Amino acid sequence: MRQSELFSKVSKNFPADEEALNAKLLIRAGFINKEMAGVYSFLPLGLRVIRKIEAIIREEMELAGGREVLMPVLHPKENWVTTKRWESFDALYKVKARDGREMALGPTHEEIIFPLAKKLINSYKDLPISFYQIQDKMRDEARTKSGILRGREFLMKDFYSFHANEADLDRFYEKMKGVYARVFERLGLNARLVEASGGTFSKYSHEFQVLTSVGEDEIYFCDKCDFAQNKEVFGLANQATCPSCKKGKIEASNGIEVGNIFKLNTKFSDPFQVTYKDEKGEEKPVFAGCYGIGISRVLGTVAELFNDERGLLWPQAIAPFRVHLVELEEGKGDTVYKDLQGAQVEVLYDDRKLTPGEKFAEADLIGIPWRLVVSKKTGAKVEVKRRDEEKAALITLKEFLNLLN
Ligand code: ATP
Ligand code: MG
Repeated sequence: MRQSELFSKVSKNFPADEEALNAKLLIRAGFINKEMAGVYSFLPLGLRVIRKIEAIIREEMELAGGREVLMPVLHPKENWVTTKRWESFDALYKVKARDGREMALGPTHEEIIFPLAKKLINSYKDLPISFYQIQDKMRDEARTKSGILRGREFLMKDFYSFHANEADLDRFYEKMKGVYARVFERLGLNARLVEASGGTFSKYSHEFQVLTSVGEDEIYFCDKCDFAQNKEVFGLANQATCPSCKKGKIEASNGIEVGNIFKLNTKFSDPFQVTYKDEKGEEKPVFAGCYGIGISRVLGTVAELFNDERGLLWPQAIAPFRVHLVELEEGKGDTVYKDLQGAQVEVLYDDRKLTPGEKFAEADLIGIPWRLVVSKKTGAKVEVKRRDEEKAALITLKEFLNLLN
């Protein structure tokens, strides 16, 4: 894409009304725009990153057997009354239609997927089955000081699995731990599996926490084994030695919850009477699990973690483009641009009439992994520099393409 056609503007300064580094950087570099507290638009650069995050997640959810659906934002009030969450869900937005009918704006989708599952599941032959979606969630969050880490409107992947019995749910739940570990690894995030309060039926749920000082959660973890727990569960504050391996020291850190998995058992199947007929024709309750990933929160987490004093530093897998081609002499970049496109390399081509200093500063701010410069000086070659290195090298385009692969 030509940068002259990107319609994205970087700013000289950080926005004054943001405290969180992720939003400051993403706004300044032209990835997102703030509409009001907790509500953001994704601009072309930001949306490209979102689409890459989604693609990785979608691929892994399909491999895990999920069938993609898209459920509505508008939910009938009755469904939320059925689960008693119309009154108890603090962050539920309630809206009224012109005829006075009340509805909810979906903060999560158990109230839609369970009635839907009731229609689709009849017999043991229909189980297990899983559905997922990638969709906008609405939550009336009390605080919105964390930029896109905590939105009032945000993108989530939510996955729901349905099973004939608890053992099958347990089996699938363990499998999803592995699926999630792979997702976060592919996203370039070091996410730790953390025990958290389980809700009604199981002892624990599990969160995937990226340990960093800016996180809203407090995590206790073992410095030797993989044991970790959210403070709101038990609080290992006074425990010096790891209760799991009995060797390691318990340390504390803040964390960003990028995903979580829950065994719901029959919590929602019961009120919606989601049942199936077993081999003997007996009516049995369906067991379920739910599995979330905060997609826009992942974008914010990556921005929060991967940056330096000059701007963003995207991991290869989710970078908006692979290569930033910077032309310093008019017309000199066109052939290289065409060749890169021909080689299927995603390239942002800075073809604008700005000074080299301005172009380099913007390239650093945007943070694409590879910078290619063409100028009078580079002759038939290109000057190659990685965003995270200082050293540049003069090589042929063919050599660069080999380097990329
Ligand atoms: P939190 O404790 O951070 O409020 P949660 O326990 O309410 O999260 P879920 O309702 O299970 O989270 O949502 C699934 C995932 O969606 C979370 O793991 C998180 O990554 C993301 N998420 C939750 N709330 C928000 C929000 N307000 N803005 C952005 N992402 C969110
Ligand atoms: Mg929450």
